[in-house]
Amino acid sequence: MDLMRAARLHIPSHTLTIEDVSRPVPGAGQVLVKVEAAGVCLSDVHLIDGTLTPTHLQADTVTLGHEVAGTIAELGPDVTGWTAGQRVVLQAGEVRDGRLLTRGVDYDGGWAEYALASTGTLFALPDTLPIEQAAIIPDAVSTPWGAITTTAEVRPAQAVGVWGIGGLGAHAVQLLRTVGAYPIIAVDPVPAARRRALDFGADLALDPIDPQLREQVLAATDNRGLDAAFDFAGVTAVREQALTVLAPKGRLVLVGLTDKPLTVTDGTRFSYLQHQILGHYGSEDNAVPQLVALTEGGRLDFSRSITDVLPLAAAAKAVQRLHTKEGDPIRLILRP
Ligand SMILES: [Zn+2]
Repeated sequence: MDLMRAARLHIPSHTLTIEDVSRPVPGAGQVLVKVEAAGVCLSDVHLIDGTLTPTHLQADTVTLGHEVAGTIAELGPDVTGWTAGQRVVLQAGEVRDGRLLTRGVDYDGGWAEYALASTGTLFALPDTLPIEQAAIIPDAVSTPWGAITTTAEVRPAQAVGVWGIGGLGAHAVQLLRTVGAYPIIAVDPVPAARRRALDFGADLALDPIDPQLREQVLAATDNRGLDAAFDFAGVTAVREQALTVLAPKGRLVLVGLTDKPLTVTDGTRFSYLQHQILGHYGSEDNAVPQLVALTEGGRLDFSRSITDVLPLAAAAKAVQRLHTKEGDPIRLILRP
């Protein structure tokens, strides 16, 4: 039996350990991918601390990692159309038996030397796209892309607000710029995050504790407010603040995950202005190939998104860095 190293989460004890596990063998419709780069996401932090629990996991341990790119190492028995050595990025999840399962949450992910992938979750990568940048497209880029284009249906020249300029929020600013939203207003309590938002294309960056926040949003939007507001933080106070600055028919899109309740403090105003609150999770299947194509075509550039690359053995350290926001990382990459 061949062994490989994997970073495994033991859910009952909230511990992440590097272990030798048996290297999986690809079955029908699957390939084995040699992982070259795997992103570390805030939801990994939340899986470890227990604020996020896998819904469909059949065991109490799982290999983390839902942002994965690498090269095909081995093909399952019936697989055609793919070749060993081909560079690929993996979809962050898939529907099995009518249920949406997330890689590295509901089944083993890519914080390991090798990962299994159904061929339906594979996308070939152009040679021009560095593997670390490719790895973060599923989730860190595709989730805000889905939130913007599918859930909020942002149109050119619509006013938008982005709360939480971490990995997903920074990409949201960049993507909103690409689809022509204007103005783009970023909100984050951390000065470095606000500076980054401006670097990534925000027109205005505000501190959520600023008592003038509402006035500033109204001044920047011809007194209308925001057509779409995105909560990437998963924080109750963010959601309630965003509702106060929505334009008529404005949408608040909930992307950051939290198990806390959300209160609409003025239901009459909410109905009169025909506001909407929309939940968002993941992205449509076409998001990753669209984003790979836009990157290959020079419309998007994720060269600023990779804060650091660490070995798999440093997985716990990477998680800690993201949790404490040490160095204000956008994305940390593990290279097994
Ligand atoms: Zn994630």
